[in-house]
Amino acid sequence: MIIILRPNVSPTQLQRVLDRVQQLGYSPQVSQDQSRRIVTVFSANGAPQLEMLAAIDGVEQVVPVQKPFKLVGRELQPADTVVSVGSVRIGGPALAVMAGPCAVENLESLRRIAARVKRAGAVMLRGGAFKPRTSPYSFQGLGFDGLRMLRQVGDEVGLPVVTEVMDVRQIDLVARHADMIQIGARNMQNFDLLREAGQLAKPVLLKRGMSATVRDLLMSAEYILMAGNPNVVLCERGVRSFEDSTRNMLDLSAVPNVKSQSHLPIVVDPSHATGRADLVPAMARAAIAAGADGLLIEVHDCPELALSDGAQALVPDRFDSLMADLRRLAPAVGKECA
Ligand code: PEP
Ligand code: MN
Repeated sequence: MIIILRPNVSPTQLQRVLDRVQQLGYSPQVSQDQSRRIVTVFSANGAPQLEMLAAIDGVEQVVPVQKPFKLVGRELQPADTVVSVGSVRIGGPALAVMAGPCAVENLESLRRIAARVKRAGAVMLRGGAFKPRTSPYSFQGLGFDGLRMLRQVGDEVGLPVVTEVMDVRQIDLVARHADMIQIGARNMQNFDLLREAGQLAKPVLLKRGMSATVRDLLMSAEYILMAGNPNVVLCERGVRSFEDSTRNMLDLSAVPNVKSQSHLPIVVDPSHATGRADLVPAMARAAIAAGADGLLIEVHDCPELALSDGAQALVPDRFDSLMADLRRLAPAVGKECA
């Protein structure tokens, strides 16, 4: 339930509203829209008694919110959220392209790749230090050393960095080194991790689980916002399907679907969605045409030697030409591209 207050509500009137809500057994949360103060009240089964609060002076409207996601929904906040990562804005007119290797492998290769993606126009550097691998025998990432390299190279080239956290035990360490925390597909419903991420003062990139519905994704984002962190960017990265010529099935309808329901920004990861470098550029362009706020793209300068996900990595020259395509495409969908 949302209680919208009049712009000129007095402190006494606001207090009366809060007291009444508490007397009815609920915990009110007060937030500020562009022009008005809003009191949000969470109740599992609707709360008809709260509708009576419309009678209090200073209350403009009491709006029941039927959707299970309240904080991420557009009912409470119609305007788009713009998430800041350093000087990068995600969700505004400028496309945010985050690029880099699947995993941080060593300092030198990360430096080479970072310099190329920066020159091409990427605004953030990605790279996994803690890697969620299907096989326990595969390269698991460099861990703490990888985090340090990512931080160092991000600072050297002047790009904010995003990297995955897999476990609540690593979250403080990752948050100290990264500008944005990534929660991967396999952890989208790790609710303890979501709650912890909600207590960070760092923005979160939340990837869609491979068998998660759009609604599940929004509910997971709701956990993070509810714990106090409003800076969440969603990421569509493909879902499992019967099709076996691609790694996953990219669900581009998730972009306008999310946009119609939520104010949060959404980016698309065509690399994990397709698993194939030859398909990445077309899907990246399609994602921008569908209204995505940015992209997450794996780039490697020697994919055949990559320690993970080489088959889907773009070589830097191919990434250059994709960025050139995006610069031509962006204005057609009302966006800008660096
Ligand atoms: C990644 O982006 O590094 C990754 C592992 O992706 P996902 O969680 O989408 O599989
Ligand atoms: Mn990868």
